[in-house]
Order: sequence, then C-alpha cells, then structure tokens
Amino acid sequence: MDFNLTEEQLQIRDEIRRVCREFPDRYWREVDRRRDYPEAFVRKLTELGWLGALIPAEYGGTGLGITEASMILEEINRSGGNATVCHAQMYTMGTLLRHGSEEQKKRYLSKIATGELRLQAFGVTEPNAGSETTRIQTTAARKGNKYVVHGQKIFISRVLQSDLMLLLARTTPYDELEDKSRGLSVFIVDLREAQGKMEVKPLDIMINHHTNALFFDGLEVPAENLIGQEGMGFRYIIDGWNAERILIAAEAIGDGRWFTERAAKYAGERVVFSRPIGANQGIQFPIAQAYARIEAADLVRYHAATKFDRKESCGAEANMAKFLASEAAWEAANACLTTHGGYGFATEYDVERKFRETRLLTVAPVSNNLVLAYLAQHVLGMPKSY
Ligand SMILES: Cc1cc2nc3c(=O)[nH]c(=O)nc-3n(C[C@H](O)[C@H](O)[C@H](O)COP(=O)(O)OP(=O)(O)OC[C@H]3O[C@@H](n4cnc5c(N)ncnc54)[C@H](O)[C@@H]3O)c2cc1C
Repeated sequence: MDFNLTEEQLQIRDEIRRVCREFPDRYWREVDRRRDYPEAFVRKLTELGWLGALIPAEYGGTGLGITEASMILEEINRSGGNATVCHAQMYTMGTLLRHGSEEQKKRYLSKIATGELRLQAFGVTEPNAGSETTRIQTTAARKGNKYVVHGQKIFISRVLQSDLMLLLARTTPYDELEDKSRGLSVFIVDLREAQGKMEVKPLDIMINHHTNALFFDGLEVPAENLIGQEGMGFRYIIDGWNAERILIAAEAIGDGRWFTERAAKYAGERVVFSRPIGANQGIQFPIAQAYARIEAADLVRYHAATKFDRKESCGAEANMAKFLASEAAWEAANACLTTHGGYGFATEYDVERKFRETRLLTVAPVSNNLVLAYLAQHVLGMPKSY
C-alpha cells in the first residue's frame, strides 16, 4: 500500500495549479455574474491537452489514467473554478473509445484531443423518465441510411458550447422488450448540422451551467453515427458510470478543500468579541469535521481510481467515492458559509457561488439516493428498491 503520488502525478497537479492561477476568483465570479461560458479557460485547458487526458496517444490524446484525469478536475475546483463546465468530455468520450468503431474513433477522437471538435454534451435525461433511464421516450427510427429522432430531453448541458453530443434514444418500443435494459442506442450527433430539426431552450437555474431543454422534430442522424450495436446503448452508458462517479468525486474533493481552506483562513482573521472567531469550537469543529470527512472520501476516491486504472471492477468504490465526497463537500460548504457569517452571502467572497455549485454534485449527474440504492442492492445484496 502506497499513499504517495508519483513524480509525474505531482507534476500534473503543479501544472494544473499554474494554469488555474491565470483564472483567479474574479474571473469565475464575473463569468458567473454574466452567466457566460468560461470560454477562455476551457480553450486554454484544451490547447494544453488536459481535456484530452483520457484519449489514448494513438488518437492524439495524452493517454493518462482516470487517476490523473481526476486530479485535473480536482485542482480546477480547488482553485475556485468549476470543472463541470468541461468535465463531460472526459467521460462521454469513454463511450466512443470503448464501443465506437475504429473509423469513428479516428474521425472524432484526434479532433477532440486537439480541440478542433468539442464533445461536451451528453443527452440522456428526459422529463418523463428522470432517474429511470430505461423509460426514456425519445425515439430514433431507422430510415434507410439514417435515423430520424423525435422527442425531448431536459437538463442537457453545454449543447450551445459543443460541436458534438452523445445522444441516448429509443430504437425499440419499451413494450416490445423482454429485457428493459435493451432497446436504447447511442448516437454521435453533429450539433452543427442539427439546426432547424432540434430546438434548444436554455434553462434558468441556480448555477451558471448552460443547461437546456431539447426538442427533436425529425432530426436526422447518419446511420454511421450509431455507436456499437443498436439496442445496446444503455449498457454502453452504464460502462461509463464508474469513470463519471470517480471524476465527480474528485471535483467534490476539490470543492471541499477550497471550502475548508477558505473557512480556516477567514476564521483565523475575523476578530469578534476581541478574538479570532476560529478560537471558538463552534466555528472550528465543523471545519475540522468537514476536513476529516474530505480526507476520508479522498482515500476512497484514490482506491476507486486505482482499481479503475488497473481494470479491476470498482463499482462499489466509485459509487462510495461519489457519495462520500459530494456529501463531505456539502458539509464543508455549510461550515464555510457559517464561518463567513453575512459575508458568506456576498458575491465578492465567492463562497455563495461555490456553495451553489457544489450542491449540484449530490444530485447530478446521478442523485445520491440512486448511489445508495446501488450499494444496497449490488454490494449489500438487499432487494432492488426501484
Ligand atoms: C445543472 C444540471 C445539469 C445536468 N446536466 C445533464 C446533462 O448534461 N445530461 C443529462 O442527460 N442530464 C443532465 N442532468 C440531469 C440529471 O442527471 C438529473 O437531474 C438527475 O439524474 C436526477 O433526475 P431527475 O432530475 O429527473 O430526478 P428524479 O428522477 O425525478 O428524482 C427526484 C428525486 O427523487 C429521488 N428518487 C427517484 N427515484 C427514487 C428511488 N427509487 N429511491 C429513492 N429516491 C428516488 C431522486 O434521487 C431525486 O432525489 C443535469 C441536471 C442538472 C440539475
């Protein structure tokens, strides 16, 4: 057992920290205030190759493991930024990498690695299905050498900031299926060609997340853009869940560290009743407790990431990491806000922004209830509850 990072990993961490210093608090605060996409930040990270971390070298990426990819996202959040603006590419392209044809990989991956193409959109969630993905209703009907898509999606992020979207759609009616996990298929949708057949309606939500409702009205997708086998799409999406959960855990760890560091610093500086507020156990214990929980979650995150990179099964660890880290980050967020008193609500301290942002990680891309349901059923052998 070795809890130390390698030289290469330490270098990656330092390099991401250096890049993030170019995008300080005021950059993220302004982007949040204007509800802008942090274009300059995402472009910089892409140009330096960091968003292609998981793309193998043969397709132009850096071919790093999930451990290193998770470190990249952690450092973004730890610096005060928000990695959700660009994390999707890391886990969506896994579906393409694992299940796409050689031709598709050659066509897309190298361009994603250089930044010529952006794959930051992932179209799964629907209003009438919610967490029950196998109930989605958006259909893709085969007509000759293309599929024609009808239906709607909700909360699909970064559609207006991406060139490509991975889309999950129904290719066999639900009632005709014996195995309800079949009948869904994954497609690569070229968003630049979707105009007129797909309406994008931006949603006004609590955080700056560029998420949308989508309405498909006869969107045509070339049959060659089907990934893998028709009807196997849900399986392919599930295959990406462990990576997704590990990456989200790392973002939450980054947030948790940001909150505890900021809280501890402020607690040492703010003097009320003639002494630093941090001298009061009512202030310091919640921060210390959150710190301990983040450190514990981090060990599970590295355990999950190490197993993932060794190609060992890691469903339990990946789910636990996501759960523990997002809950610990939320605890740290509350401790940090309390520590800052009224100033925690002032935008100039960035606490309220990070507070809003980290709350998402307990709900999306998967809600913690569903994570617990996985642990209860698949790890502890209890009856299926959903
Ligand atoms: C900002 C944001 C960005 C998003 N981006 C994307 C995106 O890019 N692509 C995409 O496809 N989706 C995206 N989502 C959707 C997200 O993945 C879903 O919101 C999430 O999976 C939960 O689905 P739901 O909102 O329909 O909740 P529901 O399924 O309606 O669930 C509501 C609540 O009930 C709980 N619940 C439901 N069933 C059970 C059960 N059996 N046992 C216990 N509890 C249960 C859930 O855990 C949840 O807490 C995004 C969401 C948000 C808010």
